[in-house]
Amino acid sequence: MQCAECRALLDAYLDAALPEGERAAVREHLAGCAECSRELAALERASSLAQEHLVHYRAPDVLKARIASAIAGERAEPAAGLSSPAARSRRWWPLVAAGVLIALSSSGLTYAVLRGAGGTAQMVADEVLASHIRSLMPGHLTDVQSTSEHNVKPWFNGRLDLSPAVPTLDSAGFPLVGGRLDYVDGRVVAAVVYGRRQHLINVYSWPEQGPNEDEATASARGYHMLHWRSNNVDYWVVSDLESGELAKFVALYRRTEG
Ligand SMILES: [Zn+2]
Repeated sequence: MQCAECRALLDAYLDAALPEGERAAVREHLAGCAECSRELAALERASSLAQEHLVHYRAPDVLKARIASAIAGERAEPAAGLSSPAARSRRWWPLVAAGVLIALSSSGLTYAVLRGAGGTAQMVADEVLASHIRSLMPGHLTDVQSTSEHNVKPWFNGRLDLSPAVPTLDSAGFPLVGGRLDYVDGRVVAAVVYGRRQHLINVYSWPEQGPNEDEATASARGYHMLHWRSNNVDYWVVSDLESGELAKFVALYRRTEG
């Protein structure tokens, strides 16, 4: 087993949600790989911290969804019956959908911060956030599902004027999930999707003439957004990931800018 594969399975390993064969393979890899062992230790720490301080922090989408699912008396498919990683990831969909219902039933959006942006940017921010939440519904996240930029980037060719940047950020803990076309601000736009543990990050981009703009941040109902314009391309990044981690992601993503 390679490190990347091991990392991708660590969450499920920690949740004891892996079939025995894979569980053994991960255990074997961990025994011989200090780096993956450190990653596991970090995950364990984060998990126990989250449990200690859960009441102080907004629950991530998936956790909310789990609660909603438990309330509804529905049970997720047992992970042990699923073999492929894709099948395993699909087990989240009903849960994520339940979380989306919770998010949508909350009252109107309030932006805590939106620096350097006027009313139009607010409207676009609303649309981007709505699109992000919609993307979490079953079957809406990706048109092309792949962990390789060599599959995702070419997929956009011919579908859009702009071929979005799709850097590989696995080693930094942000695996690529896929891409899709979406509709924001009256146009078809590119959405590239990354993961971070149980969180999802949507990166929207579209051509927009105008001077470069520094990053502006916005927060609404526990979602965080970053917006900037670079080389006549508008970028919006949105996730329920903690804002510091999202800023780190953006810094890594922007390294690909020429
Ligand atoms: Zn390793």
